[in-house]
Amino acid sequence: MASHQLLVLAGDGIGPEVTESALKILEIMAKLEDWQVEVDHAAIGGAAIDQYGDPFPEATQQAIDRSSAVLLGAVGGPKWDNAPRRPEAGLLDMRQYMGLWANLRPFEMIPGLEHLSPLRHPVMNGIIFRELTGGLYFGQPRGRRFLPGDLEVIDTLQYRKSEMTRIIQLAFQYAKDHGLTLTSVDKANVLESSRVWREVTEELARQYPDVPLSHRYVDAAAMDMVLNPQNYQVVVTENLFGDILSDLAGGLVGSLGLLGSLSVAGTPGTRGLFEPVHGSAPDIAGQNRANPTGAILSLAFLVGWSWQEHDAEHLIREAVTQTLSEGPRTVDLGGQATTQEFTEAVGNRLKDIW
Ligand code: ATP
Ligand code: MG
Repeated sequence: MASHQLLVLAGDGIGPEVTESALKILEIMAKLEDWQVEVDHAAIGGAAIDQYGDPFPEATQQAIDRSSAVLLGAVGGPKWDNAPRRPEAGLLDMRQYMGLWANLRPFEMIPGLEHLSPLRHPVMNGIIFRELTGGLYFGQPRGRRFLPGDLEVIDTLQYRKSEMTRIIQLAFQYAKDHGLTLTSVDKANVLESSRVWREVTEELARQYPDVPLSHRYVDAAAMDMVLNPQNYQVVVTENLFGDILSDLAGGLVGSLGLLGSLSVAGTPGTRGLFEPVHGSAPDIAGQNRANPTGAILSLAFLVGWSWQEHDAEHLIREAVTQTLSEGPRTVDLGGQATTQEFTEAVGNRLKDIW
């Protein structure tokens, strides 16, 4: 009997509702597969500020050390707008603490949901590899400089070549393993960092002669992803560009609630952080109407990546896709199902197809 260990960080807003849905699916999967699963819970974000005065407390760090995978709901909300350390800071600290440098965000047009997409020809099935440790989010110096009669603000775009190499290589390998094309997105006509990014990509391309590669400037890529989304199979890009393009992908597939993600340290079979792409959605929290698809898909990625249970990953994804295609659907997709009703439907579907 396989035995697995999971840490759940439910977080804030709709986080607890959608992670509860994912746990229901895990429970069903575990019963079908005869897994023994030990589930631990800890606090992150606003919930951790309320409990410990710290968005990423020591107790949570220790819980992570004991775990083999972490499922996260969402963090943040207006309640903590004036906290000395915001909930989102806890998330950045946690990613760093766990040594996660690759954020993978798959996006797919689900058959039957095409009417929700703003696209005329909504065919797409891709994955964005977003670099997670460098760029404008972390570069130094940063801050404010008061000048006579003015204010200067500074953010620094900083990268090491080694940080670029590992994420681009991961994307090349993925494209090769799955027989897909790779698009590298940068702004090499303007940015020094992007010029090095392109050099690194070209160097690695020699090791992957069978992977069709194209380069695109980020502005052109944003437009082209809307016009020709089917051309984007594997996309690799730096931190900020990846953040923006993956929200764009969320818009293209019809709802932010549909996307899950993996944040990993490169090697399958190791601990990662798995979370829906959406935020804490305070406007609908506690109403049993959140779409839990992003959280359930994140669970699927978790069992595939960290636990190496590839059949189970496939089955959960298939159960979600079939349920979305045929209904019931949650309110954000034009349906009437509650979070719980939708989850139950996915669970039943899973039992049927297993
Ligand atoms: P963050 O800053 O944490 O990324 P955000 O400001 O981008 O958050 P979200 O919390 O993702 O915002 O919510 C954006 C909109 O999408 C809200 O109107 C919210 O209700 C809706 N939304 C987000 N997630 C879901 C979901 N799972 N189901 C239904 N609606 C959702
Ligand atoms: Mg957002």
